[in-house]
Amino acid sequence: MAKTKPGKKDLDSYTIKGTSKVFRPGDCVLMRPSDSEKLPYVALVEKIEADHRSNIKVHVRWYYRPEESSGGRRQFHGAKELFLSDHYDVQSAHTIEGKCTVHSFKNYTKLENVGADDYFCRFEYKAATGGFTPDRVAVYCKCEMPYNPDDLMVQCEGCKDWFHPSCVGMSIEEAKKLDHFLCSDCSSQSDAKRPMNSFPVSPTAERVDFCSLHPTKKEGWLISSLHSDSTVPCESQYKR
Ligand SMILES: [Zn+2]
Ligand SMILES: [Zn+2]
Repeated sequence: MAKTKPGKKDLDSYTIKGTSKVFRPGDCVLMRPSDSEKLPYVALVEKIEADHRSNIKVHVRWYYRPEESSGGRRQFHGAKELFLSDHYDVQSAHTIEGKCTVHSFKNYTKLENVGADDYFCRFEYKAATGGFTPDRVAVYCKCEMPYNPDDLMVQCEGCKDWFHPSCVGMSIEEAKKLDHFLCSDCSSQSDAKRPMNSFPVSPTAERVDFCSLHPTKKEGWLISSLHSDSTVPCESQYKR
């Protein structure tokens, strides 16, 4: 972070021109891009500074949209996903046109309504190397993809893994009507284990027994490999 130079003064807050919205260091703001066709830029305000002529400069740390990262947007990226970059900048306060909220991934998934100014961030992004932190996340479904909070998923009552309806041969509409779901692995395994000519004493217990043997897939894929085309698992699953 830049030090305050002589004649410059740090401000605690700034009121966005033409609005009553006030932002402070630590807040997230929307900045008008030079090309008005583009989406606004999102930045984290680190410091607000006024010079002796009362020109207000804002020290920011940029959020990148997935399409601005070296690997581009992938299927598991949410529409409101941002990466906190290591790209710092100083901008005129005039370019700020609004405030927004960048939620943690967990808090975002709990939002009842996602407003236009709600975003989420689960990765930090190094602009120079294209590296992500954390470099591993939990993966789900047969396609072994990180969770995209925009996508509907159904949970298997057996193995507790989550599945995309399309990956298990269902439509979204069918998935929404489901009361119970057992993935094909769990249902075929519980059938196979059933002794011939006799009903299981406790189908529930049997299912639990099997599921303890079910391989856990929660170790996660390296995010760097998820972001490069060559090593994406089950690439055929990508439907664009
Ligand atoms: Zn899937
Ligand atoms: Zn299952």
